[in-house]
Amino acid sequence: MAGSQESSGERRGAGTYQMLWDCKFCGTQKLLGVTHRHCPNCGAAQDPEQRYFPAEEDMVAVEDHPYVGADKICPACQQPNSAASTYCTECGADLASGVVAPTQGVREIGTGRAETDTRRDVVKDKFDAEMVRAGVTKPPGRTFLGLSRNVWLAIIAAVLLIICCGGAVYALTYRADAEATVSAVSWERTITIESFQAVPDSAWEDDVPGDAYDISCQRKQRDTRQVPDGSHEECADVDQGDGSFRRECRTVQDYRDEPVYDDWCRFTANRWVYVRDLKASGAGDDPPAWPSQTLALSTGALTTGPASLGSEREGARREQYAVVIRLKNGKEQTCRFDSEADWTQYRAGLAVSLKLDIVGNADCATLKPAG
Ligand SMILES: [Zn+2]
Ligand SMILES: [Zn+2]
Repeated sequence: MAGSQESSGERRGAGTYQMLWDCKFCGTQKLLGVTHRHCPNCGAAQDPEQRYFPAEEDMVAVEDHPYVGADKICPACQQPNSAASTYCTECGADLASGVVAPTQGVREIGTGRAETDTRRDVVKDKFDAEMVRAGVTKPPGRTFLGLSRNVWLAIIAAVLLIICCGGAVYALTYRADAEATVSAVSWERTITIESFQAVPDSAWEDDVPGDAYDISCQRKQRDTRQVPDGSHEECADVDQGDGSFRRECRTVQDYRDEPVYDDWCRFTANRWVYVRDLKASGAGDDPPAWPSQTLALSTGALTTGPASLGSEREGARREQYAVVIRLKNGKEQTCRFDSEADWTQYRAGLAVSLKLDIVGNADCATLKPAG
């Protein structure tokens, strides 16, 4: 296979070389595409479809090759002729209606891409064409109502998508009216307490905060950069269609990864950190209230002045209000509110109206006293 060529010795440089061909009549192999227009063994004409790119060690350079274009195939005897010829060298027929010889395309060398045998499977191509002609297989791209199979699949997929999206939108927006009774109301208020503490941390040196202390740093890889590291050559062999191929090469820059080092530092900094919550809660007619300072004072000194390690302060405040409702079917559901104003109008026993979604859950945004 062509893939083994790279390891076998020196690679040939840019230039023009002979394609090879095998005589299918007498079995002679590695005949030269430019030199051997006929098999030297049996006299058979060269078949351009049987040409192939040689392995590195079989490459034969063509000196001062005048390229005049891909061969023309004689319409009378199939002999490939130079594109410069007007009449067939074999039978004398006019080459004006001759077709251009097929080529083996391009072979990539040294690019790391798989180098497969570029020879086309001529036998299979002809068999496939014969099967189509005989009606055994249908040619690709058959249609129904003037549209190809892929277009029909796309249309079906689009219709299914529209049905699914429509169903999802309906399910998400469906709401049914319902009546219910408030069975309980409750509230909870929370104050977070923070403490001023020595907090260990670590960061790259340029990110260490100004008030950090007990700093110790060490070198550590922070990043990777690409540095130029030599080069290699990539080539492409182009079948010229006249029994020769052209090798074109270019130099490609290689790179390698190089580590980038920086100082990684461990340090300590004094910071306000969360330590605990103070909570107050109530139900029924209890009026909402914040946790009292006396409760806070009993668990530690609350300070507002210049901080010293161990001192505490009040952090964020949160409040949440709940209304439990009982639906006509006996099912209970809880609606929660962040603001006291949305909640204060509800009392146990109050009749309310609301909307339910498609699975029967309360849409709390629609909850309001009935009537
Ligand atoms: Zn032969
Ligand atoms: Zn001819």
